[in-house]
Formats: sequence, C-alpha cells, structure tokens
Amino acid sequence: MSLLIKNAEIVTATDHYHADIWCEGEQITQIGKNLPGSSNAEVIDASGKLVFPGFIDPHTHIYLPFMGTFAKDDYSSASRAALAGGTTTIFDMCIPSRNENPLDGFRQWNSQAEGKASCDWTYHLAVTHWDETVERELREVVAAGVPSFKVFLAYKGALGIDDVELFHTLKLARELGVMVTAHCENSEIIAELQKELLASGKTGPQHHHDSRPPRVEAEGVHHLMTFAELLGTHCYIVHLSCDEALQVAMAARYRGVNVWVETLIQYLVLDKTWAERPDFEGAKYVMSPPLRDARNQPVLWNGLRTGMISTVATDHAPFDFQSQKPMGKDDFTRIPNGIPSLEERVNLLYTHGVAQGRLDLHQFVAVASTNAAKLFGLFPRKGTIQPGSDADLVIYDPQFRGRLSHAAQHSAVDYNAFEGFEICGRPAVVTLRGTVMVRDGKFVGPAGGGRFLPRKATHF
Ligand SMILES: [Zn+2]
Repeated sequence: MSLLIKNAEIVTATDHYHADIWCEGEQITQIGKNLPGSSNAEVIDASGKLVFPGFIDPHTHIYLPFMGTFAKDDYSSASRAALAGGTTTIFDMCIPSRNENPLDGFRQWNSQAEGKASCDWTYHLAVTHWDETVERELREVVAAGVPSFKVFLAYKGALGIDDVELFHTLKLARELGVMVTAHCENSEIIAELQKELLASGKTGPQHHHDSRPPRVEAEGVHHLMTFAELLGTHCYIVHLSCDEALQVAMAARYRGVNVWVETLIQYLVLDKTWAERPDFEGAKYVMSPPLRDARNQPVLWNGLRTGMISTVATDHAPFDFQSQKPMGKDDFTRIPNGIPSLEERVNLLYTHGVAQGRLDLHQFVAVASTNAAKLFGLFPRKGTIQPGSDADLVIYDPQFRGRLSHAAQHSAVDYNAFEGFEICGRPAVVTLRGTVMVRDGKFVGPAGGGRFLPRKATHF
C-alpha cells in the first residue's frame, strides 16, 4: 500500500521545511506541496508534528552471551522496543567467542535475527582472536555486507584481544576499507584495581567505577590511536564516557588519525551517583566504561554540538535486576555489565538535548541517525528524507508530556533504568519502509518483517 504524509514539517540533518511525503514500494518517491492522494493510499496528517528520518542505533547487544548468562531481550522484543522509541535500524554487535570463527558468529546472529526482528538491522563483527581461518572468514563476512569490525581492548581472556591480534585486525581493516569500532579500556590495570578493591572489602556496585577510572579509558583510547596512526586504519571509539578519553581521541584527530567518537545516552543523562544507590540498586547502573562524575556531561554535550562526537548510541545490554544482576551480589566484578536504553534513547536525547537547548534539531538528527548512516555505509538509503531513501519516518509529537516506566516498555528486562524520567516529546507514528509500525508509543506493526541491510566498505 502507498502512504501519503500530509502537512509534514520535515527535519533532516541539513534541512527544515514544510511539504507532503509520498511513499511507494517501501521508498520515499516524492516530496512536494499539496501532493494528491490516491484511493488505495493510507493518509497520515502530520500537522503540528515534526517528521524525522528513522533513527539509527549504531551499537546494541540483542543476542548476547556474556559473563556467564544471556542478555534478556531477543530480536523480537528488542526490535519492538527500538521501533516504539523511534529507532528503525540497529547495528548489533555480532560476537563469536574465542573458540568460534567469524562465519560461525555471522550464521548464529543471523539465525537469531531472521524472522524475529521487526526493525532493520546490520552488524559490527567482533574479532576475538586471530589466525589464518579468521582472516579468510573475515574477508568473507565483509564481502557478505558487514564492512565494520569490533575489537575489545578490555575483557582480556574473554572477548578481548592482545596487541598482535589488534595489529593484524587493523591491518586487514585498512586493506578492506573497513571501519574498526573499539571498546577502549586498559584491561590489565582494571584487573589489578579490581583485585585491590575486592581485597580491601570493597565488593559493592559503587566500587565498579574506581576499578575503571577515566584515565584507564583514556589509556585505552591512546593505545588504539597509536595502532590506528601507524596502520592508517579508520577507527570509531564506542561508548566514550569522559573528558579525559575525548581529549586523547581529539589529539589523535589533530595529528591526522581518522577517528570518530560515539557516546551513549546514559552518559548524557545519568552520573555515577546512580551506581552508588543503596540495597544493590546501583547494580542496575553497572556498565563499562562506568557512569562518570557529572562534570563530564557538559563536555559530552559540547562534543556533540561541535562534531567532536558523531553519534549517540545505547550499548543496549539488558540483564534482569532480580535474577541476573545478583550474580555479583558479593563481588561487583561479577555483575553482568549493561543497561537497557534502546527504547528510551531518542526521547531522552530530544528531551535533554533539543527541549533543553543543548542541541538544535539538525544536530539531534545528525547524532541520532544521519552520522551513523554515513559512517557505516547506509546513507542515503537510511538517515535522511529524500526521494529514493527507505520510507523510515518518525512523526514526532513535540507537545507530548509523559514519564518513562517499566510498565509501558517493550523490552523484556525487569526494570527501566530511567523509571519516572519525564519526557518532552514522543513518536506519534513510526514507519519502516512505508509500513506503520508504531502509533502513540505502542508497537502495532507486522512482527518479524525487519531486513538485514548489506553494506559496502567505504573507508579506503
Ligand atoms: Zn557494547
């Protein structure tokens, strides 16, 4: 069926104007004033609303075996949560274990996503060890449409890689024009600080931060930047949380390293006092890098405003408060790391960014959609509103006022990390390739029709 959106106030990363949008065959085919409808077209009147391109979350963990358990969502619940919050495309981290090869991981993640995902998806492929088979299969997965890697400088012995493995991964990425996304923290310092804290009886979630202080993250960035500079690889630092790490990344950019930075919505709206909450409630807020001192938040907002930081992601990694977080009841190093934020990201960014005057509308669209599409080879199919783009549209009601709650969420996890937070604005309608998926915060679309998005390497 065709879709006509009347009286749209269209906002992209670069433009802001009024027009009607005609969608047919899953794409936007025409934008203009007073477009005529047709008898078989669905018509949506967008008067009083803003119309944004579908939002893109460049960093999620939907299927995730981690720290002895599995993240709580599957592609079915997570994609509904994503869409309800205005996110139409996700980049999930595909992470084969150290004794699996890249093609094993790719097949495993595909089997989890196909037929279950209601939004569109793609992956960053994690490199967790290195040998000739890995190299050969990485080439195959890149050719199959996944031209971005993920490396962990933290979690050594589990997902993390050593410097020889890092060297070869970055070298291959450079040859193939692949972006390397990286978790930057110094693994050895963390391990020693964890031992010291536990030995002195500091076992609660409030001590997680001091096992991974800002300088540990900055050192990880410095380490990656050294390799990126020597090998010429394009790198993207995931979940950057603090001033110290941003300064190191920008020093590298200044001397010519091709580096981009992602931060997370939780670093913008939560600080480390949330992880210090009593009765183990702080465990809900244990993630790596940790929530930081509030002094970092203006730095991150400024980074988004000025282009030092390109994207706001979620690192969505939900673990139940009742049954999974307590794995670390007596030892914070065993608390499964991560919080749920896939459904909340866009509304929180609009509320704390646009409504509070920290970002303008174009900066908001850029960091929540367009920049990820451009960096990872999806633009202009995704990330903008123009003829030829997929008809992924968010008709956003800036007058909406409400509060986030576990009771209303689509994610399967047993808490909401932002319970009671006020939001100023919410998607009234979300479309995916021309089909209405969400109305007034509720998933109403056909389930399981999301598509894998093959991409081409662009970082030559
Ligand atoms: Zn992650």
